[in-house]
Amino acid sequence: MSGIQARSNAISAIINYKPSSAPLNFSETKPTDVFGCHVFNDKVMQERLPKHAYKSLKKTIAFGEKLDPSVADVVANAMKDWAIEKGATHFTHVFYPLTGLTAEKHDSFLVPDGNGGAVAEFSGKMLIQGEPDASSFPSGGLRATFEARGYTAWDVTSPAYILENPNGTFLCIPTAFVSWTGEALDKKTPLLRSLQALNKQAKRVLKLFGASTTMPVTSFAGPEQEYFLVDRNFVFSRPDLLLAGRSLFGAPSAKGQEFEDQYFGVIPRRVLAYMMEVERELYKLGVPVKTRHNEVAPSQFEIAPIFEQGNLATDHNQLVMTTLRSVAKRYGMICLLHEKPFAGINGSGKHLNYSIGNAELGSLFDPGDTPHENAQFLVICAAAIRALHKYGSLLRATVASASNDHRLGANEAPPAIMSAYLGEQLSDVFDQIKKGKVESSKQKGVMNIGVDTLPPLPIDPGDRNRTSPFAFTGNRFEFRAVGSSHSIADAQVALNVMMTESLDYVATELEKLGRVNKGEFNKGVQDLLQTILKEHDAVIFNGNGYSDEWHKEAEKRGLPNLKTTPDALPVLTSKEVVELYAKYDILSEAELKARQEIYLEQYVKTINTEAHLVIRMARTVIFPAAVNYQGKLAATCASLKAIGHDVKMGALEDVTAKLRSMQEEVDKLEKLMQHEDGDALKHAKYMCEKVLPAMDKVRKYADALEMVVADDLWPLPSYQEMLFIR
Ligand code: ADP
Ligand code: MG
Repeated sequence: MSGIQARSNAISAIINYKPSSAPLNFSETKPTDVFGCHVFNDKVMQERLPKHAYKSLKKTIAFGEKLDPSVADVVANAMKDWAIEKGATHFTHVFYPLTGLTAEKHDSFLVPDGNGGAVAEFSGKMLIQGEPDASSFPSGGLRATFEARGYTAWDVTSPAYILENPNGTFLCIPTAFVSWTGEALDKKTPLLRSLQALNKQAKRVLKLFGASTTMPVTSFAGPEQEYFLVDRNFVFSRPDLLLAGRSLFGAPSAKGQEFEDQYFGVIPRRVLAYMMEVERELYKLGVPVKTRHNEVAPSQFEIAPIFEQGNLATDHNQLVMTTLRSVAKRYGMICLLHEKPFAGINGSGKHLNYSIGNAELGSLFDPGDTPHENAQFLVICAAAIRALHKYGSLLRATVASASNDHRLGANEAPPAIMSAYLGEQLSDVFDQIKKGKVESSKQKGVMNIGVDTLPPLPIDPGDRNRTSPFAFTGNRFEFRAVGSSHSIADAQVALNVMMTESLDYVATELEKLGRVNKGEFNKGVQDLLQTILKEHDAVIFNGNGYSDEWHKEAEKRGLPNLKTTPDALPVLTSKEVVELYAKYDILSEAELKARQEIYLEQYVKTINTEAHLVIRMARTVIFPAAVNYQGKLAATCASLKAIGHDVKMGALEDVTAKLRSMQEEVDKLEKLMQHEDGDALKHAKYMCEKVLPAMDKVRKYADALEMVVADDLWPLPSYQEMLFIR
């Protein structure tokens, strides 16, 4: 389809937009009735399970106790009846392979009854374990191809749910995905392992502070999801958006985001209708989506849920991404989750709000009301500082991808340097602790940790610094470097393990004090805090993370700046990380190596696809259009000359020169692409250092042509159209 055709189709789609189904009427159907109606949740379990089974399952869910295998059959049966009442014909073990996507394979409940009929069957065994043919999922060599089996294992802590399709429904069971030798092949397994490790070490620290809780300490996540919406008609004549999820060509629109008129602006009608449907779908699945608004860039939006336990929040975020994509189609749009679909305007990220705690304790990053709680808070906060300083590179590596490279360090997202923003007040407190001077300038009274004179710490949650990758926001840290298309699992695994190691350290140090009185304990805490800050406060930075000065300063402080994916991914198999993950049984060296390989391969494949698209589009779409225009100019020139005008047509020369340059760059890129490398890291570096810049050069001339070629001859929908026609 030509750009012109796409343009008029898009315009007519928008003008004639009518909702495909009757508008939602929440006065007839209460949102509270809709919420969780497709989830096999606590309420359903209580109603449908025998008491003993319910109690046993509940224990596993809430306290992480081992599942009693005898209840599995009972639960499976109840789940099956419930699902069939809701119209389900099939069930699927949903899992989260290392592609970052969600995978599912459907099995029918029906089995022949031997008499020509069929019965619905779903046993405990089928609930607990699946065996998808998993040979096509990346395993990084963990699963030899002759042993292609992978197992899915029921994750009891994430509730099963029903997904709807116009032709029926099916039961989805969240699972972990492992190889036959028990190696993790997915994103969920290490997350579950890390939560266990975190609980153990956090409990040790809490015990020292005399804080008791019956529940496990876990992590919480609130991922703010950004995305772009573009009319589908445009995408059909944009192979780059269709296949790569980002535009590989496109001159800047005359108007971009400089007016700042989009952020929190009135949401366009079709978009709002879309958002409402997305939310309704997510309500049904029990995803607590809370806020919706326009984001900074034109056609960019955000949806944010209320935070939940980390594992559940991760599954829910996968559902959010799937739902955003699938509902968009119903509204004639495409939802782009790519981190940088359009050059020159903001990209999309996923701010991961992270805390640790539980329902009884609240967030352990929440300064308490009493000095006693404050001491505990300061220790846990200091542990986070230490964790980031020691393992910032690991955290950086978990958000490394070809697409996120376009965003990190651009003037909109935090740089690749990992630092923590604490805000003025908390920084001041830590500063004083470090100096060992306990008198506060910003606070009245004397700072003496754990003694009644320590003033409460009313940390201002409005305190904001958008340029920091890891910002303290009152009762949590906001990790801002996650990409919009990423699973939030990897970053949380890293955060959990880093925190685990730091809490382990803190507990070990304080336990060394032995049986001491309160004063001695307080003194020990104070010394420990001082030691941590002396060694690790280089990672604290409250200034402008986008500035050049910070880059220089960070280098002085010895903070790594891993700018690209090939820079960052080697960290996954560094000595420190291998030891860290081994110590807490998160991932073995082989499992880490596999992940690294897979992520490097993904990086190479992504750029490979993009480069091929650049060559193809430059030659078959842009070149013919520009030549067409060139021909028209030449014809005009010839006609003018024929009637005696002495013309020198600048426009013709200009187009000709740009065309020639583009051709040359395409040829160069094509040559560069004839490169093989058995070593994934070397290949990734090659793509990063050689291929990406060559793609940019082609784009430079192509975009320059777009600025001069007659609009009605230009074959690709423009930035202007894609971003402003909604
Ligand atoms: P902002 O845009 O101001 O950062 P949002 O309301 O968009 O705020 O998002 C904040 C996110 O942080 C929400 O998902 C919220 O539920 C989550 N959040 C709040 N408290 C915590 C906490 N203790 N732990 C983890 N996430 C939290
Ligand atoms: Mg935020």
